[in-house]
Amino acid sequence: MATKTAKGGTNDVTEAEFKKREAVWPLVLFYIHVYVLGVTGVYIACTAASWSTIFFTALLTLLGMLGVTVGVHRLWAHRTFTATAPLRLFLMLCQTMAGQGSIYSRVQAHRLHHAKFKQDEDPYYSKLGFLHAQLHGNLLRYSPQQERLLQEIDMSDIESDPIVMFQKRFYVIMYIVLNVLLPMNTPFQYFGQTFGVAMFVGFWLRSLIVLSVGDLVNSAHFVWGTHKDFKPTDSNSIFFITKTFWPQFHYLLPKDYQSGEFGNYGKDTGTTMIRVFAALNMASDLRTIPSVAVRQGMTVAVETKRPIVECVEEQVALAQKRMPEDHFLNREKFM
Ligand SMILES: [Zn+2]
Repeated sequence: MATKTAKGGTNDVTEAEFKKREAVWPLVLFYIHVYVLGVTGVYIACTAASWSTIFFTALLTLLGMLGVTVGVHRLWAHRTFTATAPLRLFLMLCQTMAGQGSIYSRVQAHRLHHAKFKQDEDPYYSKLGFLHAQLHGNLLRYSPQQERLLQEIDMSDIESDPIVMFQKRFYVIMYIVLNVLLPMNTPFQYFGQTFGVAMFVGFWLRSLIVLSVGDLVNSAHFVWGTHKDFKPTDSNSIFFITKTFWPQFHYLLPKDYQSGEFGNYGKDTGTTMIRVFAALNMASDLRTIPSVAVRQGMTVAVETKRPIVECVEEQVALAQKRMPEDHFLNREKFM
């Protein structure tokens, strides 16, 4: 198989080499530390940390998770709402505290994950199951095939966002300040904790929680999806109408701000926060998928024999135009 080299020439590589993913050993070493020292951090948090340290660390943990779920996933990867510059700045700072890599790289990988869901090219999918999607897939370099596919992902909307591009450019410095120094220095300098407690709780334990939750965005389908052999008695339409069995709903119709990352719909913290941001006029154009539009789309699909998702999206776009801008205040009416 011929692939382009960096200098524009071509190299012959085998099919296996084209799809091969190597381990990123520094990252493997880091994750070993995160798991071993993070678990030790649980013990230290219970025995030596002050309440100030615990509350401060919990706050940073929640902000990091908000940056991943509301920021990277629902705002930047799927564009389920529009955010003002101050909100984008806030979510960018939160996402930096998650320590998962830049918004740009996470959005690009998540879009490839959706485009190639359950195929070999998906960076987080494997027939090996949950552990690969949750952990192993994050520790491997992209294959040349995936690198090529990543270049084909449309990132123009992200590239036109100066806040995201600023973070991409200065990510290492921002990571050190917001994800390493701030969480460790505050308990050490202001709460009278020893450096050891500040490090184990503020950095390692927090990293264990935030990275695990963040990685779950790509592996949740193993936890909250149905078993691959499961078939409902009538048809798969039940997933559309009830919006249950995430990710059967999310992976078919991802443009819904109410679609929680972890098996829920409309009732999670991320959805609540988006509604709060909208009430504060920091978020607008909240996109959701009313069940009536789903049913109409399915009827059109049956009548015209066109793909279901295409027909549903058409009906959702029409319904979205009819909905008032503040539909999030009367959620039950537009379910
Ligand atoms: Zn998604």
